Amino acid sequence: MAKSSSSSSSPSASTIITTTTTITSNSVNHHNHTHNNNNNHLLDPKAFEEAGWVIRMSELKLGEVLGKGEFGDVVLGTYRGQKVAVKKLKDSNCKAAQDYLTEASLMTSLLHRNLVQLLGVVFDGPTICVVTEFMAKGSLVDYLRSRGRLHVTARDQIAFAADTCAGMAYLESRRVIHRDLAARNVLISEEGVAKVCDFGLAKDPSLGTEGGKFPIKWTAPEALRYSRFSNKSDMWSFGILLWEIYSFGRVPYPRIVSTALFCLECSLINLFLFCNL
Ligand code: AMP
Repeated sequence: MAKSSSSSSSPSASTIITTTTTITSNSVNHHNHTHNNNNNHLLDPKAFEEAGWVIRMSELKLGEVLGKGEFGDVVLGTYRGQKVAVKKLKDSNCKAAQDYLTEASLMTSLLHRNLVQLLGVVFDGPTICVVTEFMAKGSLVDYLRSRGRLHVTARDQIAFAADTCAGMAYLESRRVIHRDLAARNVLISEEGVAKVCDFGLAKDPSLGTEGGKFPIKWTAPEALRYSRFSNKSDMWSFGILLWEIYSFGRVPYPRIVSTALFCLECSLINLFLFCNL
């Protein structure tokens, strides 16, 4: 049976194991929760089954599309009378699907009020779905842009920043590096609570820093240049996220295209290294 959505009743939090490859009845473990960009191990759906995280497709009712993500559509669903978000991915054999399962496996061991909660995983033929709690007000960036300064108060801004900070502090305490913290990866619940999502994604190094999908404007210089991702580079991204909150969802460095920014950051690093010689 898939885990309960209740943050207090789910047993997964009490049994976080960070460095083993074993499966417990509560979490699906992979090698190390601190991502190292070597995402070359395959995750077995059986691990989810045995750990009790599998939801049957027949238990889900699917509805409207909520958004489109890197891995496929996110649709609204109903599971045991509760609204849920269902991330759907076809073709379970591709690399993206394995990344997707990596994210889900990490999510089985993390539990915090400010992280979007995993409810279970569906394996239905070639289709894989990750079922999470439904965040009624969508992504933080869309929330800020659509409501703007007329509706988003200073109190809201502080609360979004504090909520995100609490979620990230918890990730750090679990030795998880997010790598892609940005307002688009923070979701807002019906009650207005901000929760970090997409925290399990080990990024494909082959994307490179100049790839269209690489979040250059959110990435710390040492991560851009040397792939040195850490809690410190997450902190850099958090700074950019604060800028997004206080600019009501503007794109950072508005007049600079991402590739130019990459060159600029590399030059600054070189200057810094030169000065420290
Ligand atoms: P993602 O694939 O996580 O980047 O999600 C793409 C979009 O789907 C987001 O920007 C949201 O608009 C929507 N979405 C994702 N997860 C949820 C969720 N748990 N609840 C509500 N909407 C979501």
